Amino acid sequence: MLKYLLVVGVIAFVYFFFIKKKPLKNSSSNTKLEASDMVECSSCGTYCEVSESFLSEGKYYCSQECVKGL
Ligand SMILES: [Zn+2]
Repeated sequence: MLKYLLVVGVIAFVYFFFIKKKPLKNSSSNTKLEASDMVECSSCGTYCEVSESFLSEGKYYCSQECVKGL
């Protein structure tokens, strides 16, 4: 019986682990991107790396000028 509970516990753990991971993959939000991912500038449409982009109000921009909307 204890063994059974342990197996159920492990299955539940794995299940929740994948459930938790899934939204990150499916989510289209811009907050969970890898540093090397390419994002499109919300202002001019230029693609640049996340690590080099500017994040403002949930949107990525290629430069400070685009953040300001110039
Ligand atoms: Zn831009």
